[in-house]
Amino acid sequence: MEKANFSEWYNDVIERAELSDKRYPIKGMNVWRPYGLKVIQRIDDLIREEMERTGHDEARFPLLIPKTEFAKEGEHIKGFDSEVYWVTHGGLNKLDVPMLLRPTSETAMYPMFSLWIRSHTDLPLKIFQIVNVFRYETKMTKSFIRVREIHFFEAHTAHRDLEDAEAQIKEDLEILRRFATKLCIPYLVLKRPDWDKFAGAYYTLGIETLMPDGKTMQLGSIHQYQTNFSVPYEIKYEDEHGEHRYAHQTTYGMSERLLGAVIGVHGDEKGIVFPPAIAPYQIVIVPILVKDKQEMVMAEAKQLRDKLLGRGYRVHLDDRDMRPGAKYYDWELKGVPLRIELGPRDIADRKVVVVRRDTGKKAFVKRGVLWLHIQENLKGIERSLLKKAEERIFTGITEIGTIEEGKGKTGILKMHWCGAEECAREVEVGLEFTILGTPYAEQRDHGRCIHCRKKTDTVVFAAKTY
Ligand code: ZN
Repeated sequence: MEKANFSEWYNDVIERAELSDKRYPIKGMNVWRPYGLKVIQRIDDLIREEMERTGHDEARFPLLIPKTEFAKEGEHIKGFDSEVYWVTHGGLNKLDVPMLLRPTSETAMYPMFSLWIRSHTDLPLKIFQIVNVFRYETKMTKSFIRVREIHFFEAHTAHRDLEDAEAQIKEDLEILRRFATKLCIPYLVLKRPDWDKFAGAYYTLGIETLMPDGKTMQLGSIHQYQTNFSVPYEIKYEDEHGEHRYAHQTTYGMSERLLGAVIGVHGDEKGIVFPPAIAPYQIVIVPILVKDKQEMVMAEAKQLRDKLLGRGYRVHLDDRDMRPGAKYYDWELKGVPLRIELGPRDIADRKVVVVRRDTGKKAFVKRGVLWLHIQENLKGIERSLLKKAEERIFTGITEIGTIEEGKGKTGILKMHWCGAEECAREVEVGLEFTILGTPYAEQRDHGRCIHCRKKTDTVVFAAKTY
């Protein structure tokens, strides 16, 4: 895949692999086609597993939020004002209080949190939901990456103090690490500069990955709110000494952009390559139907499918009346990790042909060792997708000492920075890059500010972004 036409490649594979259809008559509100829905549901399942493991409970809040609740936190409303869809009428009647479609759910959840949280024994409260959110996007839309109806995961927590809320953020990063490993997506966690944090947050961590065209994409974010929301929403609890205190809150959000990243990061000239953990089908069986042997081959293929299903794999038997070559092409486009070819000869020899999507390698595998072969190769695909993607993101980082050195560079730039907004702005204007932020995990490293040359231990990352 050439970097120059990545965008074209991306739109093309999404359409041909039948993941999403953007021809719905509202721009940026796309239709999830069955194959695409299967993938995002797998991603949701992985999130649910992680949430359950870490003691978060799933809830479901209403889509509509009254303006009166939305307006309670001043910074938040300023940040979202230009992006919300308003509902002003119920039938023919003008509503006394207009309502909006949730752009995110702080202002839907927190009035309820203030009712649910009474005592220190109610804390921590850890709630998540997976719903669609709506944002009136004015820029050019792109499937999964920039849409107006967004498939969204959001976890909201409330804690007794800042220390406990900070521990939650550490847990979020652990969740992210396990989850991103399954998607084979490497990432950077960067603390956003103050002027770029989430509306209403005390601080924001952005989760960034590098796309093949050299631009970074934010996959999600984690926010520390401190008491910025609990004060206006009156989320208070009584501590052991009978004193009333405001809860400290955090959120963790990710969206369907994860799928956009998987497609972009792992795809190749044949199409999509899905990591085994989220592939709708991990294995596709293509029977080679030769005259007079069709029934026998189909019977064997069905038996093999049932055995694989019995072992817990997601398997599809492609029994369409098409040439095998056309089927190979189709499932390669659709990113199925392993393909099994089964013909009369193979059946006589008690073997099958197994082809890996990532490398294209073909293996003739004896039936007796097929289970082991599948298990090892699915693991192998996961490992090699991650390794390849990690190499790209790490070789995509260039350290620069002056703004001049960054000119004409692509990918992620790393530089020393004194922390002043004006120095960061010089970089943004001089290179037309966006300042992404500073590494969340402390990384002390002596140097001089990219612009003012002041001595500093802080490094900052910049890139062209989605
Ligand atoms: Zn400076």
